[in-house]
Amino acid sequence: MYALNSALIQMTMRRILASGASLFNAALAEQRIASKDLMWLHLLNRKKLQALDALPVSLFRVFYRTMDIGRSGLDDDIYQSATIKLLMIKEAVDFPILNQSNPLISIGFDMGGFDRFRREPFLRRLMLIQKGGFTLGIRCNLSSLELNGGDKEAQLRDCLRIIIGDYRYYKANRPKHLGLIRDWNSELMGPEVIAENLLSEGVTPKLVAAHISLPDLVNSIHRKLRRLQTVMPKGGGRIGSHANAIARHPFHSLLFMIIYLMLANEPLIRINGFGFTRAFNEYRQICHYLEIMDDDMLDASDCWLLASGYRAQELSVEECKLCKQITIIDRRKPNGCPWCKM
Ligand SMILES: [Zn+2]
Repeated sequence: MYALNSALIQMTMRRILASGASLFNAALAEQRIASKDLMWLHLLNRKKLQALDALPVSLFRVFYRTMDIGRSGLDDDIYQSATIKLLMIKEAVDFPILNQSNPLISIGFDMGGFDRFRREPFLRRLMLIQKGGFTLGIRCNLSSLELNGGDKEAQLRDCLRIIIGDYRYYKANRPKHLGLIRDWNSELMGPEVIAENLLSEGVTPKLVAAHISLPDLVNSIHRKLRRLQTVMPKGGGRIGSHANAIARHPFHSLLFMIIYLMLANEPLIRINGFGFTRAFNEYRQICHYLEIMDDDMLDASDCWLLASGYRAQELSVEECKLCKQITIIDRRKPNGCPWCKM
């Protein structure tokens, strides 16, 4: 995995400290860093920096005001500072590319903005920095991070805290950037392609059959995929439920659901198959980078049941009334907030 966090912390600290007394507060405000956050960053030891570097998400997230900057030129006095900022943002933008992750999840940059920013020529990108308000900043509560590199589940919770910071930010400020991945167009794709995609992800045939209402077709595709060894044999026994997944792995369930809600369009109206595959991939990627074993992860069917339970409004993702953190609630079988139980 390509690591980013400690380098960006070092750059940020230097930028802010080098800005001098008169510009110090402006530099802090621009990077959306509170002075207590600066102190927190300043006090990180080598072990904690290593734990941060092992996270497959960036602590610093991309902020901007606008992409519409017209055709005006660049002011002379800002070349130097804009170039340093551009370099930092460019590093952040390389992170999802090198780690093959979704930019909204790994650096908090909406996909439309990300694609455009990447393709703009150098000088236009400098203009975006100057006029579009591009910067890297913090969206999570730094003091809540555990930074325990030896504990994979603690690392997963830190990723979750960082991503929840973005979920809150986008919901409050830029809701239009959430849920942009539309479901497959069933008219164009046909049920067999959809079934093959979901089965290849590892969703169990029973659930796929329930989704596309063609059990015979699903079973024959499943047999074909088994012959090609793209899927494992059917796991025996009955299908679990989302309640089971939440009870067994509350933080994993919440992580998958937050990612799904950030990516998938209209999750309350349908189980968004394409959004599901993208969200499951992001979740699986985070677990793999953290070296969490398959047995300790949710599988595709667990995640599918979560997406399905959300659509049926049997579970919700909302703020805990006690600790105020975003949590996952099984409405039929209240499970208690995992953050409060820690
Ligand atoms: Zn709580």
